[in-house]
Amino acid sequence: MKTVYTFGGESDYSDPRQGDKTVTGGKGANLAEMASIGLPVPPGFTITTEESVRYLQDGQDFSDELKAEVGKALAHIEATVGKKLGDEADPLLVSVRSGARVSMPGMMDTVLNLGLNDRTVEGLAATSGDERFAWDSYRRFIQMYSDVVLGLDHGLFEEALEIAKEDRGFYADTDMEAGDWKELVAEYKSIAEGELGHPFPQDVTEQLWGAIRAVFDSWDSDRAKVYRRLNDIPGDWGTAVNVQAMVFGNMGDTSATGVAFTRDPATGERAYYGEWLVNAQGEDVVAGIRTPQYLTKAAREAAGAKQPSMEEAMPGAYGELARVFDLLENHYRDMQDIEFTVQDGTLWMLQTRTGKRTAKAALKMAVDMVDEGLIDEKTAILRVDPMALDQLLHPTLDPDAQRDVLTTGLPASPGAASGKIVLDADTAETWAGRGEKVILVRVETSPEDIHGMHAAQGILTARGGMTSHAAVVARGMGRCCVSGASAVSIDLKARTLRIGNRDLKEGDLLTLDGGNGQVMAGEVATIEPELAGDFGILMEWADQHRRMKVRTNAETPDDCRMARQFGAEGIGLCRTEHMFFDAARISAVRQMILAEDEKGRRAALAKLLPEQRADFKGIFEVMAGLPCTIRLLDPPLHEFLPHGDAEFEELANATGYGVDHLKRRAGELHEFNPMLGHRGCRLGITYPEIYEMQARAIFEAACEVASESGESVVPEIMIPLVATKRELELLKALVDRVAQEVFADTGTSVDYLVGTMIELPRAALMAGEIAEEASFFSFGTNDLTQTTLGVSRDDAGRFLNAYVDKGIFARDPFVSLDIDGVGQLVSLAAERGRATRPDIKLGICGEHGGDPASIRFCEQTGLDYVSASPYRVPIARLAAAQAAL
Ligand code: ADP
Ligand code: MG
Ligand code: MG
Repeated sequence: MKTVYTFGGESDYSDPRQGDKTVTGGKGANLAEMASIGLPVPPGFTITTEESVRYLQDGQDFSDELKAEVGKALAHIEATVGKKLGDEADPLLVSVRSGARVSMPGMMDTVLNLGLNDRTVEGLAATSGDERFAWDSYRRFIQMYSDVVLGLDHGLFEEALEIAKEDRGFYADTDMEAGDWKELVAEYKSIAEGELGHPFPQDVTEQLWGAIRAVFDSWDSDRAKVYRRLNDIPGDWGTAVNVQAMVFGNMGDTSATGVAFTRDPATGERAYYGEWLVNAQGEDVVAGIRTPQYLTKAAREAAGAKQPSMEEAMPGAYGELARVFDLLENHYRDMQDIEFTVQDGTLWMLQTRTGKRTAKAALKMAVDMVDEGLIDEKTAILRVDPMALDQLLHPTLDPDAQRDVLTTGLPASPGAASGKIVLDADTAETWAGRGEKVILVRVETSPEDIHGMHAAQGILTARGGMTSHAAVVARGMGRCCVSGASAVSIDLKARTLRIGNRDLKEGDLLTLDGGNGQVMAGEVATIEPELAGDFGILMEWADQHRRMKVRTNAETPDDCRMARQFGAEGIGLCRTEHMFFDAARISAVRQMILAEDEKGRRAALAKLLPEQRADFKGIFEVMAGLPCTIRLLDPPLHEFLPHGDAEFEELANATGYGVDHLKRRAGELHEFNPMLGHRGCRLGITYPEIYEMQARAIFEAACEVASESGESVVPEIMIPLVATKRELELLKALVDRVAQEVFADTGTSVDYLVGTMIELPRAALMAGEIAEEASFFSFGTNDLTQTTLGVSRDDAGRFLNAYVDKGIFARDPFVSLDIDGVGQLVSLAAERGRATRPDIKLGICGEHGGDPASIRFCEQTGLDYVSASPYRVPIARLAAAQAAL
C-alpha cells in the first residue's frame, strides 16, 4: 500500500486511493483532484492518514518505507519546480499542512516557508531580487515553526515585532524594510535559542521531519480530542500530511492571498464571496491581523468600502479565479470554499472543499441548484442537514422591537441570541451548566474556546473577518455570531468591557443579531420564523419522498397549531397529565387522589370531567381530520400530592378533612420508586373510574366536534406501561364500554382505536400476544430506554457524560436511540405485533422521534410514523425523507 502520493507536475492519478478522503484526507484528495482537472496547483505530496495512525501506534517512529517514499516525493516537487530544498543559491520552500478526513480545528497549524535558514535566505533574496520579501518570509518561518512545531510561546515573537515597530515609529508590518526584518530575524533566533537551549534548526531536512512529526502528534492533542468528542469523530481516523511547494502572495503589489466561496455562505446568494489581501501570506486573512478587502466590486460598493476589490485591482487574476469557481462548482456540483494565492499576477489554487453554510444558505443553494440543473431533487433533499433546520425554526429578533444598539460588527453567523456576557470559554461553560443563557465575548476566538462557544447562545468578537475562526466555527455549530466588532474592548482582569462609549461587565445582558451584525444592550423581543419560500419548497420535495408519516407530541391547542404549521400530520402523543397540573384544577385532582374510597374519587372526578372535555375539544378542533393519539393518565399519583403546609391547608378547606388526616393519607401514597410504582395502566386497573372519566371526556369531545364541524375526528386511545395482555384486555373493555355509553347518549359516534405504548421489555417480548388486544403500538422509547438499560433518565446526568467520554455509549441513549439494544426490542416487537395483526399501526413517540439517526432506524424497521415535539416536526419530515432515499 502506498504511503505517499504526489500531485501536480507529472503526477499519475490512476490510483483511486488518492482521491479517497479516508486515505489522503480532505485537503490532499481535493488538491490532487484539482491538479488532475488541470487547475493551477503548486506541486506537492500527501502522506496518508494510515501512516499517521501507524506512527502513533509504533511509539512515534517513522517507518523506513515512509522515509524512502518522502525522499522520492520531494524529488518530484524539486523536479517540477526546478529548485532544491536547502539549495543555497536557489532554494525550494514548502508548506507543511495537516489534513484529516474532515476539516478539524485543533490540528496542527500550517507551517509556511519551510526550507529557509541563514544561507538559503540569501539565495531567496538573490533569485527573487527582493531582499525585503526574503527576510519577511524568514521571520514568518521562524515564528511559525517555533510556535507550531517547537511549542514556543508565540507571544514572545509578537512582542518582539511590536517593539521593533514601535522603536521605528511604524504602524503596519508593511512599513518594515529588508534591514528591519533582518534585524528582527536575529532577535527571533536569539529568542528561540534562549527558550530551546540550542540554536533554531538550520538543517532543512530536520525542519521537514520536525514539521511532519508535529502534524502526526497533533492528532492526539487535547484540542483535537475535544473537537472530536463534540463532533462524533472517531479517534482512529488519523490525519494526512501535505507538503507543497510555496507560492508567494507577499512579493509586492502584484501578489495577494485570499479565501473565497463560490456562493454566499450566509445567504446562499449566487454571488462570489470572499476576502483577500494584497502583498500578504496565507494565514494573514484568517488571523484577522489586517482587515481584509472585498473580492468583488459589488460587495465593496454595498459595504461602502474604499480599498479596491480584487475585481478592480487585479482584473486578470480575478477573471481567472471566476473561471476556476465555475469549473469547481460544475465539477463538485456543490458550493466550494477555496483558498488561493496570486504570485506576481499568476493565480494558484491552494485548497478547495465543500463550503460550510448556514441553514438558510443550505436551503437556498439546494433549491437554486435544482433550478440550475446542477443537482436533482433527491440530492437537494440529502444536502440539507435536518438538525440545521433548527436554526431557521427558532425566533429571530422582532424588527419592530426597540434596539439599544451599542455597535455593529460583521454578521458572521445568523440567528439572534440574548444572554449574559461571559468573557472566557470556561465561564461560559460553567454558567451555561447552571442553566443560564450566555453570550461569549472575546477579542478573537481560537480552537481552545470551542467548548465555550458550544455552551453559549451567541459569540461576539472584537477582531476577525467573515472567515475568522469564530465565524467558521459558529456557522458550523449554528450559533449566532457577530465578529470584527472593533468598538469592543475587554478588560479581562477587571471582568469588564467597553462597547463604544458604554461600560458593561460580565453578567450584563446583551443581544446579538447575526443577520445584520448589531450588538445591543439588554434583551430584545423575538418573532416567529418564516416557513414559506425555499424552506417550503424543500419540505414539499421531502414530503414527496418520505414513506413515514410525521406526527407531533402536543397537549395544548397552541402547540397543535404550531405543529400543524410545521407540517404535523396528527398527534402521536398527547400527555393528559399536563392538563391535571393546571393551577385551577390541581385541587380537584388532589381531592381525587386523597379520597378514601371510590365514592370520594368519583365526586372529585365529576368536577374534572367538563374541564378535560374542553381540553380535548380544543385539540380536536385544531387537529380535525387528523389522527390523535391520547394517552390516558400515566405518572405516579405521588407526583400530584400537595407540598408544604399551605397546600395541605388549602385542601383541608376544600374537602372538609383535617390537615392531619390528609397528611396521613399522603403518607400512605408515598412510594420509594415511583417510576416503577403505581403508575400507567396500573392506575386504570386499581382506580378504573379515573380512566373512565378520561375516556368519557375524549368521546364526548370527539362526538361534539364531529357533529359541529362535520370533519372526522379519530381518537386513538393509548394505554401506558402495559406489560401483559390481560391489563390491556381489561382496560380496552372499559374504554369500549364508555364509548358505547357516550354514543348512545349523544346519538353520534366516531371511529376510534385502542392501543398501547410499548415501553417495558416484557411488552416488547410479548408483543405478539398483546397485539390481539391492540390496534396500534406506540414505542415509548424514553421509558423503554430507562427500563431496558436500567438507567433512570432523571439521575443519569451524574454519570452519562463519563459513559459517553469513555466510549461506553456512542451517544446519550436518551437523545439518540440505542439501536443495538433498545432498537432490537423495537424491531422484535414490530415483527411479533405484525405477525398477529398485519395491519397494526406502529409509531414512535419518545424524544427519539425527532432525532435523525433514530428516524433512520424507524424507517428501516418499517414503522408507520414518528412523532416529535412541534419544533422538531420539520426536522423529522426531512430526516424521514432522507431515510427513505
Ligand atoms: P488550514 O487547514 O488551517 O486552512 P492550510 O493548510 O490550508 O491550513 O494553510 C493555511 C494557509 O496557508 C492557506 O490558506 C494558504 O494561504 C497558506 N498556504 C498553505 N500552503 C501554501 C503554499 N504551498 N503556498 C502558499 N501559501 C500556502
Ligand atoms: Mg486551508
Ligand atoms: Mg412512558
